[in-house]
Amino acid sequence: MLDQITQQPTVDTRTFRLPEGEYVNQSVPKDLIVLHFTAGTSARSVYSTWTQRPGGAVSRVATAYVVDLDGSIYEFFPADRWAYHLGMTVRNPASFNDRRSVGIEIVNPGPLRLDSDSPDQLNWWPNSFSNRWCAISETDRYVRADYRGYRYFATFPKVQVEAVRRLTGHLCDRFQIPKVLPPANRRNEFDPNFYCSFRGIASHQNFRADKCDVGPAWNWGSLA
Ligand SMILES: [Zn+2]
Repeated sequence: MLDQITQQPTVDTRTFRLPEGEYVNQSVPKDLIVLHFTAGTSARSVYSTWTQRPGGAVSRVATAYVVDLDGSIYEFFPADRWAYHLGMTVRNPASFNDRRSVGIEIVNPGPLRLDSDSPDQLNWWPNSFSNRWCAISETDRYVRADYRGYRYFATFPKVQVEAVRRLTGHLCDRFQIPKVLPPANRRNEFDPNFYCSFRGIASHQNFRADKCDVGPAWNWGSLA
């Protein structure tokens, strides 16, 4: 239970720190946490993406936290600041939902597909889903679930789930965000009418119909 967290998360605020221009350096009240997955395999690759944009552009698309596969928690910018992490084109006046939320990117390759030549192999997205992720026999490394056009999703290591649990608990305490999850039957839904007024812990798929993070492999029970 989030209410029963006694151990504070260890947060690395130095290794991957975004320059001030890569987020909006304005302190705002928070009443929402939004979970994402990175569709990648390391926090370092996230940092590279966000600091080496094509042409040196500054987009201020980022999240305050990235949780690596080994459970390491990296703070990319101060959690009371904000950045454009939702990419909503409707129902988000003045980026209201980006401002009021703390974004957490969880390192995870995301959706998987069966290899076209080896049906006992699951691949992740690079090179048109041709990069091997695991064997179909490694049933602890993926879940089978139909969601937004995909059928397989990579699982999250236990140590990483525990780190996210501690981090969300800590952020709820710090910002007085309600320790509330969406109703079980709405967690996979895109529903701006509901989620624009939701306070608690939600995920990107609730704010965008074209996103599948944090996806069906995420264990919401770990935060319940
Ligand atoms: Zn996302």
